Amino acid sequence: MGFGTGSLRGQAGVVDHRLSRRHLINEYKRGRLRQDQVCDAHPELIRAARNVGAPASVACPICTADELRLITYVFGPRLPAHGRCISTAQELRRLDARPDELTAYVVEACVECRWHHLLRVLPVGNRAPRAAAL
Ligand SMILES: [Zn+2]
Repeated sequence: MGFGTGSLRGQAGVVDHRLSRRHLINEYKRGRLRQDQVCDAHPELIRAARNVGAPASVACPICTADELRLITYVFGPRLPAHGRCISTAQELRRLDARPDELTAYVVEACVECRWHHLLRVLPVGNRAPRAAAL
């Protein structure tokens, strides 16, 4: 296992995740990063992407395959240390109804080339604004 927020590239103090995403893609296209440096998703993430991931509206920025998926993990009290992978909107609504302060990480991952990046971080539960934008 060992899958945690540390495996989710893009989180470290970066506020605008789209900016760091674009930066990585540009570095790859300019040849400053090899594909194996940007396509290194944890096997657990790829498994989740394949099983419960929602199809993304765009193609993979690296391999251009139509295999990009969105996966949501929720972290917080009384949840597994590696987060809970959310597979249904109902599950997310249930977590959102909790009094605990939870955090949802929405990650994109390509099941074809293993590109992955954190897209957004949202508050869940604790009467936070509804996470309807997921
Ligand atoms: Zn790809």
